[in-house]
Amino acid sequence: MTENPFFETWTTPFGLPPFDSIRTEHFPPAFDRAMAEHNAEIAAITGSATAPTFANTIEALERSGRLLERVSRVFSNLDSSNNNDALQAIARDYAPKLAQHQMQIALDEGLFGRIAALYERREMLGLARDQLRLLERYHLRFVRSGAMLSSGQRARMAAIAERLAVLHTLFGQNVLHDERDWRLVLDEPDLDGLPDFARAAAAQAAEERGVAGRWVITLARSSVEPFLTFSARRDLRRSLWEAWTARGAHEGPRDNVPLIHEIITLRAEQARLLGYNNFADYRLDDSMAKTSDAVERLLLQVWGPAKAKAGAELAKLENVARDQGLNEPIEPWDWRYYAEKVRQAEYDLDEAEVKPYFVLDNMVEAAFDTARHLFGLTFTERSDLPAYHPDVRVWEVRDNAGSHVGLFLHDNFARPGKRSGAWSSRYRDQETLDGAVAPIVVNNNNFAKGEPTLLSFDDALTLFHEFGHGLHSLLSRVRYRSQSGTAVRRDFVEFPSQIFEHWMAAPETLRRYARHYATGKPIAEKLLRRLLAARTFNQGFATVEYTGSALLDLDLHCEPSPETLDLARFERDFLVRTGMPREVGLRHRPAHFQHLFAGSGYAAGYYAYLWAEVLEADGYAAFTETGNVFDPELAARLKAIYRAGDTQDPMELYRAFRGRDPTIDALLKQRELTVLP
Ligand SMILES: [Zn+2]
Repeated sequence: MTENPFFETWTTPFGLPPFDSIRTEHFPPAFDRAMAEHNAEIAAITGSATAPTFANTIEALERSGRLLERVSRVFSNLDSSNNNDALQAIARDYAPKLAQHQMQIALDEGLFGRIAALYERREMLGLARDQLRLLERYHLRFVRSGAMLSSGQRARMAAIAERLAVLHTLFGQNVLHDERDWRLVLDEPDLDGLPDFARAAAAQAAEERGVAGRWVITLARSSVEPFLTFSARRDLRRSLWEAWTARGAHEGPRDNVPLIHEIITLRAEQARLLGYNNFADYRLDDSMAKTSDAVERLLLQVWGPAKAKAGAELAKLENVARDQGLNEPIEPWDWRYYAEKVRQAEYDLDEAEVKPYFVLDNMVEAAFDTARHLFGLTFTERSDLPAYHPDVRVWEVRDNAGSHVGLFLHDNFARPGKRSGAWSSRYRDQETLDGAVAPIVVNNNNFAKGEPTLLSFDDALTLFHEFGHGLHSLLSRVRYRSQSGTAVRRDFVEFPSQIFEHWMAAPETLRRYARHYATGKPIAEKLLRRLLAARTFNQGFATVEYTGSALLDLDLHCEPSPETLDLARFERDFLVRTGMPREVGLRHRPAHFQHLFAGSGYAAGYYAYLWAEVLEADGYAAFTETGNVFDPELAARLKAIYRAGDTQDPMELYRAFRGRDPTIDALLKQRELTVLP
C-alpha cells in the first residue's frame, strides 16, 4: 500500500489533516499499522530491563500510540460529520478491534506492574503536581479497567468491552437510519402556521431529497422543533412526535431495544467484577459528584420545584387551548405549540419576529468577540486551508501577543451523513511534552442552512455552548496530552461550555450583534427586554424534560437485575414512580437516547449538565455581582480553569476562581424555579 497520507509526514500548515488526499480506503491499513506500532511501543516499555521511572514508563506512554491517535481522530470526526456507507462499514468493522486493542493494553500485566511500582513510591519521585496527578490517573484508569483482577476476570472484562463497542456503534447507526429514513412530505395546505424560515428550511430539505417544489420535515431536531412549535395541524404534529419518539424502537433488525438490554446487562457485570453494586456506582466513583446518592440528591432538589412549575405552566396552556377550541387534554405534541401561543400573549414575543435578528455569521462574530474580550483571543479566517466539506470554515486563532494558538474549524449546517445534535471535538490536542503542539478544534452544529442562515435564540446558545468547549481545548496550557483541555471529569466538562452561554444572552452582546439580516438595524430595546424576560418562560417544562431524562439514566444504571429487565414495563413504571407529567412526555426514550447507549461516555452521566449548571450559574453570578460581565480580574481567574485542563482537582480549580464552594441558589433563580407563575 503506497501513497497512504497517514504514513507520511503532513506538510500542511499547522498540521491540519490533508483532507483532500485522505480517502476512505486509507483507513483500514492505517488502523492496522497504527495498532501494530502502538503494540510495539508498549512492548518496548514493558520489555525494558531498566527499573520503572516516570520518564521511561508514564512519559513513554504519553508518547505512544501517536499514529493511532492521528488516524482515529480523523476517522471519528469524519464518521460523525461527513460519513457514508463505506465509512460506516469501517466503523462497524474496527470498533471491536479498537476496543480490543485498548483493552489489551489496559490489561497488560507487565505495564500495570511498572505503573503500580511507581504509584507505590509516588511521593518519593520528586514529581511536579501535574506529573503526580497524571501518574495517579494512569493507575486509577488501569485499576478501573480491571488490572487488579484475576486473569479469567480480565479476559471477561476484555470480552465485555469489545462487545459493548459493537453494541454502541450499532445503536447510533440504528438511530441515524431511522432519522434518515423518515420524512414528512408536505403540500401547501399542510404548512398552516409555519413561519417563513421553517417553510424555507422545509423547501431546502425537499430539494436535497429530490422532491423539489414540495416541503419536507425530517427527524433532525432543527426540523422537528419548529414544526411542533408552529404547525397548526395537530394531526401532523402528532405523526411527527410519534415518529420522533419512536426512533430506534422499530421491531426488526434495527431495533435498539434488545441492544439496550444487552448493554445494561454487560455494564452491570463490568461493575460487579470491579466490586461495585451497579454501573452507576462504578461510573460515579470517578467523578466530581463521587456517588449516585449525591447525584440523586441534586436531581430531586430540582425535580419537585420543576414539576410544580410545569403544572402551573400547563394550566395556562389549557386555557389557551380551550379558547382556541381544543376540547381534548393537552398531549406531548401540543405542548410546544400552545406554549408558543402563551409566549406570544404574555411576552408579545413571536419567535419568527426574533429570528431575523439572529444571523449565524453575526452570532459567530459575537462568540469570537467574547473570546477576545474575556481571554484575548483573535480569529482570522483561513479560506486558503481546505477542510473536508465546502461548508466548513477554517479560522486561525492567535493570542494578544499575536502568537499562534491553534486552528478552529466551524461546521455549522445539517446535511445527510452528519449525525444530529451539536458537539465539539479535536483533530489534535494541545501539549508541550516534546515542544509546543497547537490544538486543532472543530465545532459541529446542525443548523438549517438558509440565505442568510437565521438562528433561534436557543440555536445561538448552542453555538456559544460548543464554542465554550472549543475554547477549553484552545486555551489549554498543559504538558501532557492526556490532561489537555476537555480531558476533565465528565461532570466538570460542561462548566466551561455552559458558563460561556451567558455571554451570548448578555445585553451587551445582543445590542451589538443581534442585527436584522435585511436592514442591519440592531434589535429594538423593547423587543430585547421582552426576549430576555421570556427566557425563564417554559422552564418548568424544560427542567422536567431534562431532569426526567437524567433520573431515567440513573435508574437504568442502578437497576439491580438488568438481566431480567422488561424495558417497556420499566419505562411505564418510571413515569408513574417519578410522577412525570404525562403532557410533557419523555423526550429521550431509551431506544434513541444516544448519550446513554451510542457510547458509554454519558451513561450514568446525563446529570452532568445540571451538575455543571450549579457551578455555571454560581460562577456567572460572580461576574454580574461586579457589575461588569467582562471584569478583567475575574476573566483572568476563569481563564485559569480553561488553561488547567485536568492538571488539578476540579473543585480546587473552582474554589480558586470563585473564592468559595458553589451553592444551588443561583441555579434555582436562573430557572425561576423558586417562583411559580
Ligand atoms: Zn456540552
